[in-house]
Amino acid sequence: MNGRVTVFDTTLRDGEQSPGCSMTPVEKVRLARQLDHLGVDVVEAGFPAASPGERESVRAVAAEVSCSVAALCRTREEDIRHAAAALADAARPRIHTFIATSDLHLAHKLRISRDEALRQAVAAVRFALTFFPDVEFSAEDASRSDYGFLRDVVAAVHEAGATTVNVPDTVGYALPEEYGATFSRLARDVPGVTLSAHCHDDLGLAVANSIAAVRNGARQVEVTINGVGERAGNTSLEEFVMALKVRGELLSLATGVKTEEIVRTSHLLSSITGIWPQPNKAVVGRNAFAHEAGIHQHGVLANPLTYEIMTPASVGASESHLVLGKHSGKHAVEARLRGLGLYLSKDEVESVTARVKELADRKKFVWDEDLLTLVSCVPDRRVRLVRYQVLSGNDLMTMATVEVEVDGDRRSGSSTGNGPLDATLKACDAALGLDVELLELTTRAVTGGKDALAEVVVKVRHGEAEATGHAASTDSIEAALKSYLSALGAARTSALEAAAA
Ligand SMILES: [Zn+2]
Repeated sequence: MNGRVTVFDTTLRDGEQSPGCSMTPVEKVRLARQLDHLGVDVVEAGFPAASPGERESVRAVAAEVSCSVAALCRTREEDIRHAAAALADAARPRIHTFIATSDLHLAHKLRISRDEALRQAVAAVRFALTFFPDVEFSAEDASRSDYGFLRDVVAAVHEAGATTVNVPDTVGYALPEEYGATFSRLARDVPGVTLSAHCHDDLGLAVANSIAAVRNGARQVEVTINGVGERAGNTSLEEFVMALKVRGELLSLATGVKTEEIVRTSHLLSSITGIWPQPNKAVVGRNAFAHEAGIHQHGVLANPLTYEIMTPASVGASESHLVLGKHSGKHAVEARLRGLGLYLSKDEVESVTARVKELADRKKFVWDEDLLTLVSCVPDRRVRLVRYQVLSGNDLMTMATVEVEVDGDRRSGSSTGNGPLDATLKACDAALGLDVELLELTTRAVTGGKDALAEVVVKVRHGEAEATGHAASTDSIEAALKSYLSALGAARTSALEAAAA
């Protein structure tokens, strides 16, 4: 191997910016533990200047993991102070500061000159270094910046002491040859600098561009699990890491990622957000290792190498295990949770065990997928469903009554509607006296079988606030109602947080 590439995971920061991917501090810590276990070198935990909730998340992640933890900030001193404070408990803290370098961003977004951007970049790196020795600088929109100016900025921040300089394709515009050429020029013009790639997938080229970058001298790549992120997403960790591994003979580059943990990590993220990759997604999609054509199946049975460039086992994709039932105790539950990459506290394990028993009363077998869903769909305690009733049929008027509890106070409401879902959600609005807009609702059966858990993700707008909710039940109407109520609880919390910020 000619080199080692640092894997910088930004699922918790850039990834969290994708619609519907927002996570609570508890969920961020849960995912961060598994990312640490997966073997990423750096976890970017968030953007502390954004809100008190974000600061709390970064602080919680920093205190938890052993790998480096990065916090993003603009070049303002106030931002850098927030990042440094949030990283105080990190074993290996890294401040990640950025400013745009393209004329387009300088003229229209920041309204400053190139000289001023350069001055701010250097000042921010120097100020960040007064807190911690590891400081990364990003030249936002680098791929659309004038090369001469980009080179001057990279040289200046390197000179100022930045330990890594990131050259992002912020808008997903670059082509592989062109992006690679920028790296080889920078490596030649600024000797000794450690360069990083950060790509977006607007043209479906994020992974190809990241590979072009490392072939031309980059030694860090910024990635996300399942490729989540702004707009079309970021470079997908699993695709990038497996390309390096499968084509090692050509690329001669290694990462520290334990590839057998990849699918587990992907499932954990999906179960937290309720957003699953499309079935044909490379490496982690449901069909990534499914050979459908008879001739392929025959070939794979005779010798897997005929159609398989990597084995399912190498990324940890295996059959679902039949796991738990009514009589499973907390030790059995805890052992399975660990097998799924979940390291929970004693109290959390006890609460999950109680819910496994409850589920086993309604459903014969509790599978791994069910367990992941149970952990991520924790019922909202502030806005809680007490009961619902619905009378429905294809030749009668649907009527629903819903009783909810808000901060200990019980209320009920009734409504007619177009079918049971519409009627129960309207009855919910009536009970709460709220005018809520339902933006999105998706239902997924967690496993096969008529008794499968239904997982429902909803997105609502209430006033200015948008929020998502996520719940599961063997009764799909109940799952939808709980999901709707948890979204309302979250909308209320984000409105309160915005008022406090
Ligand atoms: Zn980005």
